[in-house]
Amino acid sequence: MVTKITTAGLRKFAYCPRWYKIQYKCGFNPSSPLKSKYPIGDALRGCLVSGSDADFRSRIGGLTSGEVIVEEKATFAEMIARGELLLKSALSWKDNIGEILWHEQLSKYCLNDIEILGYPDILAKKNNIITLYSIRVSYTSYTDKDRDADIIKMVIFKSGLEKILNVKINRLCAVSMIIRNRKNRISPNTKNVITEIQETPIVLERNLENTAIQSLSDMVAIINAGLFPTTGMQNGTCSWCPFGKQLQGQKFCDFPDEILKEFSETSLQRCNIDKWRDEF
Ligand code: SF4
Repeated sequence: MVTKITTAGLRKFAYCPRWYKIQYKCGFNPSSPLKSKYPIGDALRGCLVSGSDADFRSRIGGLTSGEVIVEEKATFAEMIARGELLLKSALSWKDNIGEILWHEQLSKYCLNDIEILGYPDILAKKNNIITLYSIRVSYTSYTDKDRDADIIKMVIFKSGLEKILNVKINRLCAVSMIIRNRKNRISPNTKNVITEIQETPIVLERNLENTAIQSLSDMVAIINAGLFPTTGMQNGTCSWCPFGKQLQGQKFCDFPDEILKEFSETSLQRCNIDKWRDEF
C-alpha cells in the first residue's frame, strides 16, 4: 500500500500525534489568533520567489483579511515595517547563495512505499557545493528543538531532490529570518537588532539519515494503525498547540473524536478560538 503524507503533516505528527489526528483525520483546523510573523513570513517567502520587494505590502493585505493579529509588544504596522527591512536583507542573502536549482516548487517523491508531498525551500549551488536551505521566519534564534522537528523533513527533501534532479546535496542549512517583536531592541543593555538573518548548518551525524528514514516509516505505521498518543503533554508542545485551548473547562484535544468531527462541520471551524467560548 502506498501511503500519502505531506511534510507539514509529518512535522505536526513529530510534535504530537494527537494534534496530527485532530487536524488531518478529524478535519478540525480552527483559525487561532494570528502572530504577525506568519503573514509577514508568507509575504516574505512570496517576494523571495519573485525576487522583488514591490508587492510585499499587498501580499500581507490579502493574507490578513478577517484575521486577528495578536502581538504583545509592537503594533502590526511596526512589525510590517520590520518585515520590509527583513525582506531587504533576505533578498541580498538570496543574491549571494549562488545558482538556484529549486525554490518552493512542489516535490513528489516515493520512499519505502510512502508518497511524500512537500515544498523544499531553496536548493542552491555555489562553488560546486550544493546546499539545501530550510527557511523560517521567527522571533528567536534556531534551537535544538527546532532542529529535531526539522531533521526528518530535511532528510526527506534531500533524498527526494537528489533523485528528482540527479544531484548530490552536500550541505543542509537552516536559515532563521528573525523579526523581533519587542519594542525597544536597541538599548544600552542589549546588542540585539530588530531583524537578523542567521544560518545554522545541520550536520547529519553518523546514521542520522538512516534513523530519520526509519522514523518516517515508524510514523506512517503508527498512522496506519490508528494510534495517536498525546505526546505533546510530555514534551511541552501543548503550550502552543491550538488544541490546548480550554472550552467549558476542557482542553479541545480532550474532546472525543466524534465531537471534534461535529465541530469541524460548524461555523466554529472558521472562528477565532477565543470567540468560541462565547458560543458555549
Ligand atoms: S493540546 Fe497537547 S496533547 Fe493535545 S493535541 Fe495539542 S500538543 Fe497534543
